[in-house]
Amino acid sequence: MDSTKINYLQAMGIQAWQLKQAVSSLSACQDEPSDTDWQTLRTTVMHCTACGLDKTRTQPVFGVGNINADLMVIGEAPGFNEDQQGEPFVGRAGQLLTAMLQAIGFERDCVYIANILKCRPPNNRDPLPAEVDLCTPFLEKQIALVQPKLLLAVGRIAAHFLLNSKASLGQLRNQVHVYGRHQTPLIVTYHPAYLLRNPVDKSKAFQDLQSVCRMLQTT
Ligand code: SF4
Repeated sequence: MDSTKINYLQAMGIQAWQLKQAVSSLSACQDEPSDTDWQTLRTTVMHCTACGLDKTRTQPVFGVGNINADLMVIGEAPGFNEDQQGEPFVGRAGQLLTAMLQAIGFERDCVYIANILKCRPPNNRDPLPAEVDLCTPFLEKQIALVQPKLLLAVGRIAAHFLLNSKASLGQLRNQVHVYGRHQTPLIVTYHPAYLLRNPVDKSKAFQDLQSVCRMLQTT
């Protein structure tokens, strides 16, 4: 294992010996094709006022990454840093997500990252059901355009929407679910913001990420 990966694992609070397999073959980054559907969708989101969160947002946070990605990471909603910078998963939680991905051989810009909600709820409160209903068609369109081989739901809110479930995160981990009419495999793990507060669970998150590797090697 090279020193860079060891540093990534240390950043996650995980002992280096736990990374058992290299998956560099999965991390190849493909060129992004141009797609007018993407431009139309982005423009629609950037001007959206449907649920009222436009009144308190700095800017919508559309999504970022490789639109041909094998792996799509889906979180909850923008927080303070994301709202300021216009990109999902930045700040300390974003740095941890990047480290988690790099620990399994993925550079951040080789996956696609998006949220359930495109605009920050005030004071980072949970998304309201009406907001989720109005915003998630944008996410569903993003998933349809990317057509990932695997979805990684990070955190309770994302998992509950994608799986139409109210089960606890603990119940939803450690199994492969499917999403949508294409039956896209889906794995659930902890949100990096949760892991920052509960570092004892980082090793469980790493186990989830190893499951991601195994799934992508077989799909
Ligand atoms: Fe529109 Fe979604 Fe933003 Fe609400 S959260 S204003 S539905 S883009």
